[in-house]
Amino acid sequence: KLHNQVEDAKGNIRVFCRCRPLSKVESSTGCSTVVDFDTASNGELGILNSGSTKKTFRFDRVFTPNDNQVDVYSQASPLVTSVLDGYNVCIFAYGQTGTGKTFTMEGTEGNRGVNYRTLEELFKIAKERKDTYTYDISVSVLEVYNEQIRDLLASSSSSKKLEVKQAAEGLHNIPGLVEAKVENIQEVWNVLRAGSSARAVGSNNVNEHSSRSHCMLSIMVRAKNLLNGECTKSKLWLVDLAGSERLAKTDAQGERLKEAQNINRSLSALGDVISALANKSSHIPYRNSKLTHLLQDSLGGDSKTLMFVQISPSEHDLSETLSSLNFATRAR
Ligand code: ADP
Ligand code: MG
Repeated sequence: KLHNQVEDAKGNIRVFCRCRPLSKVESSTGCSTVVDFDTASNGELGILNSGSTKKTFRFDRVFTPNDNQVDVYSQASPLVTSVLDGYNVCIFAYGQTGTGKTFTMEGTEGNRGVNYRTLEELFKIAKERKDTYTYDISVSVLEVYNEQIRDLLASSSSSKKLEVKQAAEGLHNIPGLVEAKVENIQEVWNVLRAGSSARAVGSNNVNEHSSRSHCMLSIMVRAKNLLNGECTKSKLWLVDLAGSERLAKTDAQGERLKEAQNINRSLSALGDVISALANKSSHIPYRNSKLTHLLQDSLGGDSKTLMFVQISPSEHDLSETLSSLNFATRAR
């Protein structure tokens, strides 16, 4: 493995903050912005509280509404390269619904996000290295909803219950999960499309459903060094988390309440794992949720983690914005 001392010194968890632009409706109704980007280039973000106080948060990187998908990906891409060097990597987007988690990870067809660009780069580098390595790349698409894992590439009739198991080499896997072998970016695109349409099945409101479930891509890279015969296996997780917003008191009943409790449980379990890692704690509580259990191999150890904290600039979202920023500071 290629050890980079500068990176090691920085630790293995990086936190990027990305703020979306005001929406058309927000601008046209004269909504004001509570975010101050004056020192964004230093990784600092100012939040203007009611009154005239300003609270400052520090990140490894701050992306303003003017930064585009290419700017964002260029800062994430070193981690992607690490996957081909044998590291496990996890990139995830955290934040309130409507702040751009899906925009950052999936993007749109004309404005692709981290997921697509990552796979594109994996294929590009694999090709450049074809004289020294062979790479085998496969993709799984799953979602976690109400603490249940659903395989979005499984045939629709199968309803097998998926669980995380620890394999012999100590790595975790999910027996029965479909791994689609992909040879090029067009095949990836087809797999991702199949995943999205499976996600829509059985939910009467796709947007609502996706804001309450974690959408997870797992990319497995098996590498063989042709010069010395050494084989490595590494895993990259790309995760669009469920919305972090708290449930309105009026909605707190029945199915909605259960969903909210499960989201809460998994996001706070994720926060606990990340802060335990940041504090170099001896016990990392991976097993408190399906989400952290799934991500176990790609969080901690010598794996590399990147969290995008997505926020809204709007005054109306101030309290959720503060709560997301506070979540993120636990990681530093
Ligand atoms: P989330 O997944 O967090 O609920 P979305 O990704 O669906 O949020 O974003 C909500 C809306 O804001 C979408 O219409 C999206 O295209 C838009 N949006 C989010 N971030 C940006 C950005 N950085 N630039 C332009 N539009 C954005
Ligand atoms: Mg979304």
